[in-house]
Amino acid sequence: MAKSSPLLGTHVSVAGGLYKAIAHGQELNCSAIQIFTHSSRQWAFKPLEKDSIHAFIKAQENSDVQTVVVHASYLMNPASPEPSTRKKSLDMLRSELEACEALKIPYLVLHPGARLESDLATALKNCAETINAALKTTHHVKILLENMAGQGTIVGSSLEELQEIYLHIEEKHRVGFCFDTCHAFASGYDFTTQESYKTFWQRFDDLLGIEKLHAIHMNDSIKAFGSRVDRHADIGSGKIGLHAFELIMNDTRFKDCAKILETPKGEGTQEDQKNLNLLRSLIKK
Ligand SMILES: [Zn+2]
Ligand SMILES: [Zn+2]
Repeated sequence: MAKSSPLLGTHVSVAGGLYKAIAHGQELNCSAIQIFTHSSRQWAFKPLEKDSIHAFIKAQENSDVQTVVVHASYLMNPASPEPSTRKKSLDMLRSELEACEALKIPYLVLHPGARLESDLATALKNCAETINAALKTTHHVKILLENMAGQGTIVGSSLEELQEIYLHIEEKHRVGFCFDTCHAFASGYDFTTQESYKTFWQRFDDLLGIEKLHAIHMNDSIKAFGSRVDRHADIGSGKIGLHAFELIMNDTRFKDCAKILETPKGEGTQEDQKNLNLLRSLIKK
């Protein structure tokens, strides 16, 4: 595949070895992929072995996969009011960053967390402080804060909340953003028409800076606009509709953003293939 094709791909499995993710991506003609570097539902973080790091880097070098994004574990709550939870999250976040750095992966996508019984301002500050501490042992990898659907006490569903976290970040060049279409739609941001798309991205640029956006999660939404419920649907078969994805796929500002599917997988690679083909078909010649 030509290196000039859009940075597009899907979340792939690392079952059987990290390096296998590259082959899975290659099989689907992905120029970008997202992975977990370890089980996303376990606190235990086994350090990566030298051979496994080497095999991964070699595999990527010999592939058309230009960008790899890691999604951080779902267990962490960097915004927690509970010091022991924040400490556990900090240790894990640091390990995740170190793994990315070893694998030469530029981006780690992170959910800001949940405020639980604390107030919003405290939670956003706690989140930033966990990130500030975690960044100290690495030098290159960037944390990408992902916008959330806003279920329960989860923080980071508004651009203002993400901005507030960012304002507390010390090493600002080490933090950027990942935009999830399903989460944004569910949290009440409309970007489905030419007009609303333009208004939304202007707002994003004003508050966060569009140049700080490095990844887009391409997911349609099963749940309604503003439902604050996070349920991903296949492209074009949810409530967002195809037009919004067409606008994103043809937006030259997002040329260097890794556009990653997190849509339902089913058996095999058929579902991914179908969603990727659909997105590719939206690109205007
Ligand atoms: Zn996510
Ligand atoms: Zn996402």
